[in-house]
Amino acid sequence: AWGLSDRVKNIAPSPTLSIDAKTKQMIAEGIDVINLSVGEPDFGTPEVACTAGKLAIDEQFTKYTAVPGILELRKKIADFLQGHSGLTYTADDILVSSGAKHSLYNAFMALCNPGDEVILPAPYWVSYPEMITLAEATPVVIHTDETTGFKITPAQLEAAITPKTKVLLLNSPSNPTGAVYTREELQALAEVILKHDFYVISDEIYDQLVYDVEQVSIATFGDEMKARTLLINGFSKAYSMTGWRVGYMAADRSLIKAMTSFQSHTTANPASISQRAAVAALDHRDEQMVSEFRWRRDYVLERLRHMPHLTCDTPSGAFYVFPNCSATYGKSYQGKAINKSDDFAALLLEHAKIALVPGSGFGAPNNFRISYATSRDNLAKAMDRLEAFLRLVQ
Ligand code: PLP
Repeated sequence: AWGLSDRVKNIAPSPTLSIDAKTKQMIAEGIDVINLSVGEPDFGTPEVACTAGKLAIDEQFTKYTAVPGILELRKKIADFLQGHSGLTYTADDILVSSGAKHSLYNAFMALCNPGDEVILPAPYWVSYPEMITLAEATPVVIHTDETTGFKITPAQLEAAITPKTKVLLLNSPSNPTGAVYTREELQALAEVILKHDFYVISDEIYDQLVYDVEQVSIATFGDEMKARTLLINGFSKAYSMTGWRVGYMAADRSLIKAMTSFQSHTTANPASISQRAAVAALDHRDEQMVSEFRWRRDYVLERLRHMPHLTCDTPSGAFYVFPNCSATYGKSYQGKAINKSDDFAALLLEHAKIALVPGSGFGAPNNFRISYATSRDNLAKAMDRLEAFLRLVQ
């Protein structure tokens, strides 16, 4: 028979990527749009990583590698996790993939049977619900808002659990809210998980981008918790290597073995050149990038504080702020009605020439996401435009 599979037909296009595409089109037409919708650092890939990548090409390190990644890289990742989080893994507990997105997809495909439930705290990163559905599992969304700092409570988690619960998805620091769970909060969630005995996929891709708080992995709460955790991380954010496509999972060896088989038949090893670059990147922690992001976060928050109609929590990590714009709903801008975050973002793009992502795609209809992964000059201009726009909302 003719036509696409239901699986593919049911995928929603990524709202972050579509805003980005529209913005790029406007820029190509010569329109001066400031893009605050991007999910990648505006810094360059570290020189050491670029050099290692070039050397890999010159040395003809350009063939298939071991499916789970070269031993040198997996060993380095294990060392990093020991130093960074105090977690003991060996190279056999690591599976390197073509980006953390790929690692997440492997995780859902390996854990979920049709009908299994994945508990998904909202606001969530846009790809999670789609990946869960592709794995034929069902997302069970827990809604959170500013009252709990966009974090789920143990009581909310308990209430979402059913006999079909297979996995909890945790993303701390969070995209889109920047929220970071504290040690105590994670400990309390770990107790619920152990009591009911299910897995956690812990997406820690923003783990090095935290400001004045500690980053804790849920895998650190004892061996039983570690055995139930699939820790996901990668090189895109902390090392500005989005285009190199390297991510990884650290988990119980039996899970890694199964997922390595799965990966061997779908994509095989991540790019050999990128793996060499990733080895070099692990020696390079860019403190300057972290302090620059902290400065920008503080700047944006300070500007937002003086704008009408908006409220904004202080995010502790990643490079996003997630203001609440629901006070504009029912109002209008120059006669054009604002009734939801999509209206707000569309009007901003058209009239203020600022690209932002509406919260609807993140399961958060009252908010919008600002990425501050852009220059100080751009942020200053964007905040001026946003303020001028809001002053005309009535
Ligand atoms: N997880 C989260 C929360 C992200 O925000 C992103 C990128 O936007 C990813 C995973 C995917 O990163 P990668 O480039 O390693 O696939």
